[in-house]
Amino acid sequence: MANYNPYDNVLKVMNEAAEILGYSDSDIAALKYPERELKVSFPIVMDDGSTKVFEGFRVQHSTARGPAKGGVRFHYAVNSDEVKALAAWMTFKCAVVGIPYGGGKGGVICNPAKLSERELHEITKQFTIAIAPLIGPEKDIPAPDVGSTASMMGWMMDTYSMLQGRTVRGVVTGKPVEIGGSLGRTEATGRGVMFTTKNILNKLDIPVEGTTLAVQGMGNVGSISAKLLYEEGMKVVAVSNSSGGIYNKDGLNIPAILDYLSKDRKNLLSEYNEEGIVHISNEELLELDVKVLIPAALENQINETNADKIKARVIVEAANGPTTAEADEILASKGIVVVPDILANAGGVVVSYFEWVQNLQSISWTEEDVNAKLKDIMDPSFNAVWDIAQENDTTLRTGAYLIAIKRVVEARKLRGI
Ligand code: GLU
Repeated sequence: MANYNPYDNVLKVMNEAAEILGYSDSDIAALKYPERELKVSFPIVMDDGSTKVFEGFRVQHSTARGPAKGGVRFHYAVNSDEVKALAAWMTFKCAVVGIPYGGGKGGVICNPAKLSERELHEITKQFTIAIAPLIGPEKDIPAPDVGSTASMMGWMMDTYSMLQGRTVRGVVTGKPVEIGGSLGRTEATGRGVMFTTKNILNKLDIPVEGTTLAVQGMGNVGSISAKLLYEEGMKVVAVSNSSGGIYNKDGLNIPAILDYLSKDRKNLLSEYNEEGIVHISNEELLELDVKVLIPAALENQINETNADKIKARVIVEAANGPTTAEADEILASKGIVVVPDILANAGGVVVSYFEWVQNLQSISWTEEDVNAKLKDIMDPSFNAVWDIAQENDTTLRTGAYLIAIKRVVEARKLRGI
């Protein structure tokens, strides 16, 4: 635990899937290393007049199936192993849903909550300049992740465009709609989580209506997932964010909570009140007696210290890497079904792909069209993972990696790499 390294998790699952696929070490040797890693640093003049140097990373794990694709994380705990793991997960995520990308990820070590709008703008611009040699619509396409927003994607697009001397919309996805963003992109990851949750409940013969749900994390992904599943009739009994969590055994009023949180950035979930609410910690939320648990925050939330205490029947991973390899084994032995991150949260990158396609063609699709096309990718991808896991008697995570690794290895072979 103390030495938790998310990249070790990636390697462990990769090895397991490769063995089932009958691949030799040399077949997957290259996938164990990122193709390219860049570490950057740049000075920023802060609002108080001082100069501070910020550090960031851009990692391209694989470009075998297409340009590298993946978000940029703005968080104080960003580090190179985390970005490497997140980049590898993007490779397998894009492969499992069959979109023509490899995997990449970026990160800047900073705490956006403590930065002014001007400071954040400067950091985003300088980071873009620093990674500019690596990115481009045919090379590597950043997007939002934890701590980054649509506005920041707009600034990245502008900075890259200024360097090129022309507007290059397709260099970044998740932009504001007015400057080339796709309708439906903001909700896409949560919408994909909603489709996936309904799919798994359906396979397990559990009704959607009235089934209890707890969501850890009320950022973009957690809040949209909670909202859409609430609208589908699930009983959302608990939600949390970094300030703490709230629980109501009779179900929370999700629209009222989201309204409260969006009204003012200073509104804390831990201070929200409504009849019947009990305040709980993030740890307590994970251990609640609910049917479905959606971790939608950071990595390493379900690990060997708490996996044994998880009571949910189903975990749908909206976050990247919320469950460690050790926890996976414990959960599997308890019969808890885990729908893995690379499948469950792929909705975001799928609609990023749609955004990129629209940018390259200078057209825009309706939101209805985007949502329908997203469902057309998420549902068959889920079914394929379910089927292969059944055929091989594996967990859904291993099933997803069986599909993903095969696609990446085949691409490398066909390209003669
Ligand atoms: N950051 C998101 C993810 O982890 C989206 C990446 C993208 O759209 O490129 O999947």
